[in-house]
Amino acid sequence: MNLLSKIIAAFEVFALCVGLGVGVACLREPSSGEIAGPAETDPGFVRITTATGDASTEPGTTAAVITTAPPATVPEGTKMMYLTFDDGPSKNTPKILKILADYGVKATFFVIHHDESYYQQYLIDTLAQGHALALHSYTHDYGRIYSSTSAFWSDLTKLHDEIQQLTGQDIRITRFPGGSSNTISASYCDGIMTELTDAMESRGYQYFDWNCEDGDADGNTMSTEYIINHARSSANTESEHLIMLCHDTDAKSTTVDALPSIIEYFRDQGYSFGALDFNSYPAHHGVNN
Ligand SMILES: [Zn+2]
Repeated sequence: MNLLSKIIAAFEVFALCVGLGVGVACLREPSSGEIAGPAETDPGFVRITTATGDASTEPGTTAAVITTAPPATVPEGTKMMYLTFDDGPSKNTPKILKILADYGVKATFFVIHHDESYYQQYLIDTLAQGHALALHSYTHDYGRIYSSTSAFWSDLTKLHDEIQQLTGQDIRITRFPGGSSNTISASYCDGIMTELTDAMESRGYQYFDWNCEDGDADGNTMSTEYIINHARSSANTESEHLIMLCHDTDAKSTTVDALPSIIEYFRDQGYSFGALDFNSYPAHHGVNN
């Protein structure tokens, strides 16, 4: 069963309680009622309904209809660029989404939990615009998640369950903080990356690393020119599968500024852009711990 089938099989309707600045709570509701837009049998269909009415909405009113793009079947020989954004959502997420929409480009967001009020809405916006949401980490705290395998799985599961409750999506693609090749984890637990990467498949996940990067993590705010040049020079443009590491954080406004040039450059190099799915090329690094 592929990811799409799993999503459909796992499809459930969750109620999104749209609070007025007082936070958002989610309750599960059975599917019912009429709805305009995509059919529930459409790939990736997710409906989010309000559970309680307010001045403008009745209980069960459709708050959002999300139809995520089905996993793309990529014809052999197609050069694919998978732009990936780690650590969001952030205040820059809407700007990134706007640029991606302007260029008609899909991407993948490896998110972490944030307490900010925009967190849930930006996750929904990202999915609704046809991008892939993917799991990065709930805490992104190296000392915590790499202290033991059970600590790691409990952190990842917490994020998985939170997003599933919010969106109905059973997300099974993930990226290790620091990548699978990180050595920082050795400070906390010897051999943990070997154990975690070995266990990914049996846990029902696929992890993704990257094979090019825009260099926006080389400092807090690198110059736009640096990021554009780094994205170009780090990529082997003969490769059929490029996975570009970028970041989506409040500080990285220059990543946003660089994005149009990066998209244009790789488009000119013959690349199509796509969102990762479970069966995409994972660009695994060598494991060093
Ligand atoms: Zn990260």
